[in-house]
Amino acid sequence: MPLDIIAEATRYCETRGLRLTDQRRQILVLLAEAAKPLGAYDLLEKIQQASPKRQAPVIVYRALDFLLEAKLIHRLESRNAFIICPHRHTNDEAIVFMLCEKCGRAEEAASDMVQQSLTQLASQRSFQLKSKVLELAGLCKTCTADKMPESAAS
Ligand SMILES: [Zn+2]
Ligand SMILES: [Zn+2]
Repeated sequence: MPLDIIAEATRYCETRGLRLTDQRRQILVLLAEAAKPLGAYDLLEKIQQASPKRQAPVIVYRALDFLLEAKLIHRLESRNAFIICPHRHTNDEAIVFMLCEKCGRAEEAASDMVQQSLTQLASQRSFQLKSKVLELAGLCKTCTADKMPESAAS
C-alpha cells in the first residue's frame, strides 16, 4: 500500500515537472510507512538511522517545505507533525483531520458539508477564509473499542 502512494506521488511530480529527489522521496516513504504523523525530528532521526552520512536538519526542513508546497503532505498544526496525503485536493476543499489522543493516529476526511458551513460562517463575518483545515481531537475506532470494558467499569 505505501508503495502505491509513492508511485502515484512520483507520477504526480513527473507530470508537473517537480523534482522528487531521493531525500524528498525518502521522507514520503517514511511518512507512508508510519502509522501516525511524524515531526521533523522524528523524520531526521529515522533518516540518520538509515544512512551513515550525517544529515543536517535544514535538509529535512527544505524537503518538507517542498512536499508541503507540492501538496503531497500536510502539516498538522496542533501536533507540529506531518502526514502524507494520498488525495490531490482542489484549492477550495475543506479538510478535516481526526486525531486520536491515545494512539496518535490521524485520519483525514474531506467534507462538502463542512466546506459549505465554513464558507458561510466566514462570509457572515466578512472574513476572508484562506485555510479550511480542521483538526479534531478524540479517540479513533480502534481505541474506542479498546476502551469499552474500562469505561463501562468506571
Ligand atoms: Zn490531504
Ligand atoms: Zn487511536
